[in-house]
Amino acid sequence: MDLFQMRDFDAHEQVVFGYDAASGLRAIIAIHSTALGPAAGGCRMWPYATSCDAVVDALRLSRGMSYKNAMAELPFGGGKAVVIGDSRDKTRQRMEAFGRCVDSLGGRYITAEDVGTSTTDMEHVARVTRFVSGLAGESARGTEAGGPAGGDPGPKTALGVFLGLKAAVRFRLGRSSLEGLKIAVQGLGGVGYPLCRQLAAEGASLHVADSRVGVAQRVCEELGAHEVPAESILSQDVDVLAPCALGAVLDSRSIPALRARIVAGAANNQLARVEDGEAVTRAGILYAPDYVINAGGIISVAHEYRGGATAAQVRAEIEKIPGRLTEIFERARREGRPTSTIADQMARERLARGARRMVA
Ligand code: NAD
Repeated sequence: MDLFQMRDFDAHEQVVFGYDAASGLRAIIAIHSTALGPAAGGCRMWPYATSCDAVVDALRLSRGMSYKNAMAELPFGGGKAVVIGDSRDKTRQRMEAFGRCVDSLGGRYITAEDVGTSTTDMEHVARVTRFVSGLAGESARGTEAGGPAGGDPGPKTALGVFLGLKAAVRFRLGRSSLEGLKIAVQGLGGVGYPLCRQLAAEGASLHVADSRVGVAQRVCEELGAHEVPAESILSQDVDVLAPCALGAVLDSRSIPALRARIVAGAANNQLARVEDGEAVTRAGILYAPDYVINAGGIISVAHEYRGGATAAQVRAEIEKIPGRLTEIFERARREGRPTSTIADQMARERLARGARRMVA
């Protein structure tokens, strides 16, 4: 493997391999850009088949974080960590070893939870480094208006997705209410489940799937949703599809089978390839760029890290997501280009402006 020739290598500033024999840590930290500030992005734990797969994921996810932080107007660059392994085998020792790896970067990378890691894991990381956010404990309390910001970013991401989904519905379907709208949600974890609760509260008809046994059934019992087999959730005859599981769900195989008119969900890197953004547009589907709609969590994590913001202030920042999406939708329509291309261009422009300021 030639790292610098890889398709997903995008002039990343730094890629670090972390290994600790005692705890079994095998981690990769990718820093895509620090043009707008220290690189911020979560730590994913996943049983990658090969370390090359882990590198590719770290490269893609860290670039996504640069774009996400730039579009959310946060003073942070983009980075991401991946820990190779099954999250069920996680130990405090391994998370601390990961924390030491983060610490060795002296603040160029700030970590938080992501798929496979939790606020508790971040507490372990915080024992050995201060370059961590998304903590449980003190900061997790008082997430209501007026209390301190912080804690589990999942519900904040869900709030941003909910508001962004409504903006997409307004733009594409000309409706301000979700009453009776059919919405398919793939993945009912830290983001998908709170999203479903908000959608159900607004009267949406939910079609849900999760690959974990019993999870969808519980959501159906609680929220009156319809369970769908995980293999057919993407092709449901619905108004909106909300991918909230893993990335690369929109590809040359799934796009022709989509029946939703809007795709608006939390998963990172939903488009398998850049070209898939064009295919989605050609199919007449409005796509809410993932890193714009799912920025609620990083907005919360960033404010927690910097300190001083209340939960109400964080909510006000998250409430800017629908406006940003509508700007992208309008520009895409005006220029006849995919929403994903417009978002990428806007993010790159912001990064370039930051890089010029660094040089000046
Ligand atoms: P999670 O691990 O808590 O939940 C994901 C859920 O998806 C799990 O319940 C899992 O069983 C299910 N799943 C996996 N593959 C599936 C499949 N093929 N079909 C149906 N269900 C499947 O993760 P999360 O925190 O809810 O994040 C979901 C997505 O949103 C991820 O892509 C993540 O990177 C992204 N995201 C999360 C946050 C956050 O704040 N947690 C922020 C931004 C983006």
